[in-house]
Amino acid sequence: MDYQNTENFANHLDKIDPLRDFRNYFLIPQKNSQETIYFCGNSLGLQPKSAKTYIDKELEKWENLAVEGHFKGENPWLYYHKLLTKPSAKLVGAMPSEVVVMNNLTVNLHLMLVSFYQPTSKKFKILMEGGAFPSDQYAIESQVKFHGFSPEESIIEVHPRANEHTLRTEDILQKIEEHKDQLALILFGGINYYTGQFFDLEQITKKSHEIGAFAGFDLAHVAGNIPLQLHDWNVDFAVWCSYKYLNSGAGGTSGVFVHEKHGRNNELPRFAGWWGHDEKRRFLMEKGFVPMEGAEGWQLSNAQIIPMAIHRASLEIFEKAGFSNLRQKSLKITGFLEFLIQEFNNEQKRIQIEIITPKNSSERGCQLSLIVPKEGKKLFDFLTENGVIGDWREPDVIRIAPVPLYNSFMDIFKFYQLLQNYVKL
Ligand SMILES: *Cc1c(COP(=O)(O)O)cnc(C)c1O
Repeated sequence: MDYQNTENFANHLDKIDPLRDFRNYFLIPQKNSQETIYFCGNSLGLQPKSAKTYIDKELEKWENLAVEGHFKGENPWLYYHKLLTKPSAKLVGAMPSEVVVMNNLTVNLHLMLVSFYQPTSKKFKILMEGGAFPSDQYAIESQVKFHGFSPEESIIEVHPRANEHTLRTEDILQKIEEHKDQLALILFGGINYYTGQFFDLEQITKKSHEIGAFAGFDLAHVAGNIPLQLHDWNVDFAVWCSYKYLNSGAGGTSGVFVHEKHGRNNELPRFAGWWGHDEKRRFLMEKGFVPMEGAEGWQLSNAQIIPMAIHRASLEIFEKAGFSNLRQKSLKITGFLEFLIQEFNNEQKRIQIEIITPKNSSERGCQLSLIVPKEGKKLFDFLTENGVIGDWREPDVIRIAPVPLYNSFMDIFKFYQLLQNYVKL
């Protein structure tokens, strides 16, 4: 795509954007009575205007039916989570039976590790990306200890080569090969939160299976950002949250994928609760856990209706927009951001912004991670004062994520103008 660094061009891109009206489905935070330039959908997506209506419906059900709301009224609570299954399955390329929405992300990661990390004295290692999100590191570390192994010996990390910021797939595969006899599990973030690098889930999974290990992914930064084919890629399990690109509110509920081939395997160890028990017999209150088939068999507790109501509102917007349309716009809008940053670098010598996210668009979602030598934090603070909401991640990265549902090409252009203003200071 040929971009131009003019306001007219940005306006033109907005005018021909088939998804431009989707911005109106969201509440954009204001600062000094102006709409902010919100680039933080990778951390907390914006509120869909419809969220309130969906919550209200459930509050009214509670008001009017109280306990009978489980079985009566529109969308009884007993089955409420199922309303989220199909649209979630579509986002990650799964069959509906392979997906369930429940709990929160790290909780679900633990539940998956209970089933898919079964270390033996020979095969006890877990391979993950260096610099994984801390919650994932803590989860893994505690699971390893729980099984009586030492994290130092059991957790293998893959790091970028010297003077590189991101991982090469060949290095990941090589590392798997190197530890092949001892690896029990490969667990990666689908996208690394810091660099924005999207990993080759299919190849990692294939290699993991070759050496007899499970492959699982934390898709917190992928779900709603990049379309996936988890079923076809044979991924064993995956987890994600709903409050980042999926716009379902802070602490929102989480999604889980368990591949069909494991969904009926009652031999897998798992932690059980009544909501995972055979639905037809759940209220007979009998002894003896019999898991439901598929991902639903991993449920523990009765569903969190209010967060799920918000999630429903949000997923409906994804359905309306079409995920492949969103990905197309995402490639275009992030490409525009990358282009304008390069223009900025070429225009002046004082500040050179380094983009550490891969250049190849198939290795990234919408987020670009920027490093500005010496004055990164100062630039970040300037942007914040001037109405940009991005985020700063220690030690030195500014993350900017243009989200195709609600960001405009003009947002990107205004960001570029602010960079230019900063240099003039
Ligand atoms: C955001 C994020 C989390 C957060 O976990 P919660 O349990 O939702 O608080 C965990 N892991 C990754 C990779 C994340 O990006």
